[in-house]
Amino acid sequence: MLLIPRTFLDLIAAEAEAAHPRECCGLLAGRDAGPGDIVVTRMAPSANLTGGRAEDSFEVDPQVRFDLMRALDGSDKRIIGHYHSHPAGPARPSATDLAKAYEPDLIWVILGMENGRVADVRAHRLAADGGRFDEFGLSTTDGVAADRLASGTHDTEETAP
Ligand SMILES: [Zn+2]
Repeated sequence: MLLIPRTFLDLIAAEAEAAHPRECCGLLAGRDAGPGDIVVTRMAPSANLTGGRAEDSFEVDPQVRFDLMRALDGSDKRIIGHYHSHPAGPARPSATDLAKAYEPDLIWVILGMENGRVADVRAHRLAADGGRFDEFGLSTTDGVAADRLASGTHDTEETAP
């Protein structure tokens, strides 16, 4: 199960709606929170640097990834996945997504949209054989205080379980 602060989901949804009809994207960092559970503690929005049509593809800025990795260095957190929107599609990975998926540990959070509004949010992870995605449970976590940092990166620490 992916545990994500409601605050982050709200921010990501707002990004998706602001970027519409283009895809928004960004990275998610966090840590293991028990058997099968991963908690998101930080999100890093990115410009969509796709070289294709931004209506149905995305590319996270390598600088955003670099900065996030540096910020996480020495902590128990890591990049656990990323998010992007489907401006006119469901919250399921597209064929384009599958073709680009090569990091089996990453969680893909996808926002499905209808009429310019976020209608559904789901998480997925590449199956062991790499030939398909499996849905990964997604839930919000409570008791979380989020701080918006000047850099545009959002960080939070959950209370101890
Ligand atoms: Zn996609």
